[in-house]
Amino acid sequence: MKTKQKIIIAGPCAAESQEQVISCAKELKKRGIKIMRASLWKPRTVPGFEGVGEKGVTWLAQVTKMGITVATEVLFPDQVSLVLKIIGKKGNVNKILFWLGSRNQNHYLQRGVALRINEEAPKSVRLLIKNQPWKEERHWLGIVDHVLSSGLSPKRVILNHRGFSPKGKNPLKMRNLPDFEMAMRIKEKTGLAMIVDPSHIGGTVDNVFRIIKEAKQYDFDGMMVEVHPEPEKAKSDAKQQLNFQEFDQLLKAF
Ligand code: PEP
Ligand code: MN
Repeated sequence: MKTKQKIIIAGPCAAESQEQVISCAKELKKRGIKIMRASLWKPRTVPGFEGVGEKGVTWLAQVTKMGITVATEVLFPDQVSLVLKIIGKKGNVNKILFWLGSRNQNHYLQRGVALRINEEAPKSVRLLIKNQPWKEERHWLGIVDHVLSSGLSPKRVILNHRGFSPKGKNPLKMRNLPDFEMAMRIKEKTGLAMIVDPSHIGGTVDNVFRIIKEAKQYDFDGMMVEVHPEPEKAKSDAKQQLNFQEFDQLLKAF
C-alpha cells in the first residue's frame, strides 16, 4: 500500500529579520522540507513582540522564490490581500499557506479570511486552522463550518491540533494539553487533513519530543513544528523552538 506523504511545516515562531528567515529557508531546503512557517503578525496573550508585520512579507516572497511554500498567520482579510499583493509582485504567489491561529475566535473574521482567499488567491493557496484555546469539540467543528461556508474547497483546508489551555493534571507541565482522540474524531467527521503542532502543545524542546512520540500512535497527516537557527535568541516562544540538530532528530522520530 502506498503511504501518503506527510505534511511537514517547520520554521521559526516569528519572522524576525531577513537574515533569520533566509538562513532558516536554506536549512529547510537542504532537508527537502517544502513548507516554512514564520509569523508576521502575532496576537499575544500578554503584551510583547507582535511581529514585524508588513515589512516581513518581502522576506517571505524571497523564500517562495527558493521553491518553498511560506505559512503565516493572518487575523484579518486585508492581511490576506496584502500578502497576496506583495508576494504576487516579488515572489511566487502559488506558494502560500495562510493560517487562522487559536486566538482568533471571531467567526466573521474566520469566514472573512477564507472568503478573501477564495476570491483572490490561486487555487494552490491553502488555509490551515488551529483549534481554539478551550476544550470543546462543538466549537472546533463550528470554526470549520464557518470557514467552509465561505465556499473555499475542503481540499484547500487543513486542521492543526495545538492542544487546549491546561486544566487539571499536568505533570509534564505541557503548555497546552492535547486531546488526540478528539482530533481524530474531528478528522473523521470533517474528512479534512489533520496535523499536530507539538511546539504549542509541549512548550519546551523535551516536551516536543514527548508529544511526537505519543502523536505517532494516531493517524495525523503531518506536523507543524517551530525551528529556529538560534532558539535562545528568539523573540517569541524561545523555550520550545528546536535548533536544526534537534530538528533532524525529530524528523527521524516522526
Ligand atoms: C504560533 O503558531 O506561533 C501560535 C501563536 O500558535 P497558537 O495560535 O496555537 O497559540
Ligand atoms: Mn509560536
